[in-house]
Amino acid sequence: MPSTAPPEHPTLIQTLLETIDPSGFDAWYEERQFAENIKSGKPYLNTPPPVKPANQHSPSQLNQCHRKIFYRQLNAPEEVDDPDGIFWTGTRFEEEILMPYLSSVVGDKAYVRNSMWVDYTVETNGGDIRIRGSTDPVVVDAQSTPILPTEVKTKDSIANTTAPNPHHVAQLLAYMEGLSREWETEVRTGLIIYGDRTTLSIKAFEVRFDRKQWSELVLEWATTHTEFRLDEQLPPAEPVFDWECNFCSFRKRCGQAEAGFQDEGANGFLPGVTYPRKKVETYVQSHSNARLTPTLAIQHPDLANQYCVYDWCCEVESHRFDVAAVDWDGDTNAYPVCPMCASEGTLSELVEPHPERQHQLTPDSPGVDPT
Ligand code: SF4
Repeated sequence: MPSTAPPEHPTLIQTLLETIDPSGFDAWYEERQFAENIKSGKPYLNTPPPVKPANQHSPSQLNQCHRKIFYRQLNAPEEVDDPDGIFWTGTRFEEEILMPYLSSVVGDKAYVRNSMWVDYTVETNGGDIRIRGSTDPVVVDAQSTPILPTEVKTKDSIANTTAPNPHHVAQLLAYMEGLSREWETEVRTGLIIYGDRTTLSIKAFEVRFDRKQWSELVLEWATTHTEFRLDEQLPPAEPVFDWECNFCSFRKRCGQAEAGFQDEGANGFLPGVTYPRKKVETYVQSHSNARLTPTLAIQHPDLANQYCVYDWCCEVESHRFDVAAVDWDGDTNAYPVCPMCASEGTLSELVEPHPERQHQLTPDSPGVDPT
């Protein structure tokens, strides 16, 4: 038998080798996600979320560092990309493992809904607070009346998990109360289910509705947070949990990272700080007067072509320069010198406007003196 040589596709192989790379993948994934959101009837996920009223709270944000949630609610620019892989795993785990498992457990005695909506207002001594959001899977009866809400989370490992996290308890309490009100029933038991991303095993914790926990973890937290928002006051840097700062997207502006900033407000990019492309875009799209800093213009030249960029400003004189007029390689340890001061025989640096000044700009404003 004559041997048949495998067909060769040198051009295709070369194309694949040249095309399969991180930036190509990121662009493909972003476009795919954009299309998926439209197909699934959630086009709003493709645009930055609007800033919610001060007294409105999502169950998933309860009982965490007030400052972190303050930044998040006001769409402060995030310093790191989202953990999309964790989100993706969490969604798959819930849809492809937990939902079928719950359905199998309830059998023909009940049904499992993938989520239910809660939206209710509670009177407190500090004013009305509104809680609005959607649950994780809920076991319901044939009339769709909720019986047992769940809160499903995945972790790297559940080996050392011996109790539910208090902010997950707060979340579940908020669901129980909302479902009870909406359906005029008593939903007083819920289940927090942790899935192990490594082994795919689970641990489940029963949560009973507890008045003291409801008051402390939900009402007090939400009332205090509403006050920070109404007063436009940056909350203190006080994480509720030890791990919060390590996973926080605002460490630099908060002052928990070696970046030379402390207690910055929610507006504006930090000078000399690089941000992920997607986060830059989200911020400028959600703030009509936002511009890129020169640092970001160098980091993301395609965005600099689409959006306005702050001028370089001389740290001593009132000289200003368009970012394109200054030769700079993006090294934030060596800012460019002011050409006009240099021509007059003095050395001064060009700097980027501080966030406090950035948000005062209108789209037609020239760059401002950063000092
Ligand atoms: S870094 Fe820590 S203290 Fe600062 S906002 Fe984030 S979680 Fe809160």
